[in-house]
Amino acid sequence: MRVVIGSFSHESNTFNPVQMQLEEFHPQYGEDVLTTLESPLRSSLHGIYQVLQNAGAEIIPTVYARATPGGVVSRQAFDTVSGQLLATVAAAGSVDGVCLHLHGSMTVADIGDAEGHLLTEVRRLVGPDVPIAVSLDMHAMVTPAMLHSANAFVGFRTAPHVDAFETGHTAATLLVDSLQQGYQLTTAAVSLPMLVSGEQSETEKYPMNHLIQVLKETDQQVGILASSYFLGFPWADVPYNLGSAVVVSRQDPELAANTAVALAEEFWKYHKDFQFTTEAYRFEEALAVAQMHDGGLVCIADCGDNPGAGGSENIVYPLQHMLAAVQKRAFFGAIHDPAAVRACQEAGVGGTVSVVLGKLSIAPDSPGLSLTGTVKQVGQLGKLVTTAAAVLRVTGIDVLITEERAMMLDPQDLVELGLDLADYDILVLKSGYLDPQYEAVATKGLLALTPGFTNQIFVDLEYKQVPRPLYPLDKNIEFDPKAYLIQ
Ligand SMILES: [Zn+2]
Repeated sequence: MRVVIGSFSHESNTFNPVQMQLEEFHPQYGEDVLTTLESPLRSSLHGIYQVLQNAGAEIIPTVYARATPGGVVSRQAFDTVSGQLLATVAAAGSVDGVCLHLHGSMTVADIGDAEGHLLTEVRRLVGPDVPIAVSLDMHAMVTPAMLHSANAFVGFRTAPHVDAFETGHTAATLLVDSLQQGYQLTTAAVSLPMLVSGEQSETEKYPMNHLIQVLKETDQQVGILASSYFLGFPWADVPYNLGSAVVVSRQDPELAANTAVALAEEFWKYHKDFQFTTEAYRFEEALAVAQMHDGGLVCIADCGDNPGAGGSENIVYPLQHMLAAVQKRAFFGAIHDPAAVRACQEAGVGGTVSVVLGKLSIAPDSPGLSLTGTVKQVGQLGKLVTTAAAVLRVTGIDVLITEERAMMLDPQDLVELGLDLADYDILVLKSGYLDPQYEAVATKGLLALTPGFTNQIFVDLEYKQVPRPLYPLDKNIEFDPKAYLIQ
């Protein structure tokens, strides 16, 4: 059994005007991919790899490329990585299957639907009879081009996402089982005309907890191999931004279609029930609530400028307010500002630095914030993506600054940078929902509905291309799931 594998993923925020460049993907090609897959990380491609290894498959590695969410992917970056993937597939000759991990919300300059484009090309190379199975992020936009090119899609069932490995594992298991037992994977999808942010759809909370349970029950039905709900990506202003219910069947297109219709119908019953499940306030109010809390560490997610959903991660408006209002021991970060990191590195720990940090708003001509502080730490931040970082202490607030954009995934990253969490009462994090490791150290979590490219108030965003009607931009939509079956 010869199987092509690869992973090329990005969540592209079309409101962020800064395009993603090739080096931000840290791409690996060919045999180098296998070296990474020997590591103990638990990515989707690791899950795919484990299944194929256990099945004794001959594995043909193509690419492994992923970047922090950000703006639209540059044409050059996309063409380079996808070009390598396609060249490897073309050179591989006859193969039995293809198993990829893609995000599902990658948008490319001039192209748009990255996954549809890539899968169309892969299908053209391998021919109509080779099964293609794909694992996707929960925030995927499943398009007709994707559905027509691949045989099976499976998505994450957790938000925050902690089942990437398992989802890759499922996709590869679908592929291997179908090859070994000689049946076809057939998939149907029904689109859902709505936008919902991750912060309103955490899978441990209502209504997603119920809907995930529905998927688990669906998987038990005879002839159904996998079912998924995809939520789309609210900060992609593209004409195919829709959620979906997707069902993979054992060679039964009609069963797949009927089941996808039923799943879409079930989802729609709850479409008005998605709410913030964490207390959510304007930033000023969130800070005031945090300052009144006496029970330990409070984490405030500055969720309008969340790098985890493609924010620019350099909006310092919350820091400006903190400097005026904070009375407790506070941390703010990370701010993406390579020049400020360099200034801190040059001054060294203990040195005094004056910088103009970040931007006060997303306006292209927005000024930054002039600050003078003492350098507290310089070093590296992060494990999956490592970046140079510095901590600048300004009027009692520790400000984390990074050379590359960096998601706040794990407080241990701060400890490794030389900070002590016991020194803080309040962490203001460039984040959406708190990742589980921050959840574990916080006695209280708050969402601050800040302005930025990941603004949670969708009606305030200037959508021009999304399909209409679309909830919550449009209310009282007549939803007939059969009419939304992707043909
Ligand atoms: Zn996601």
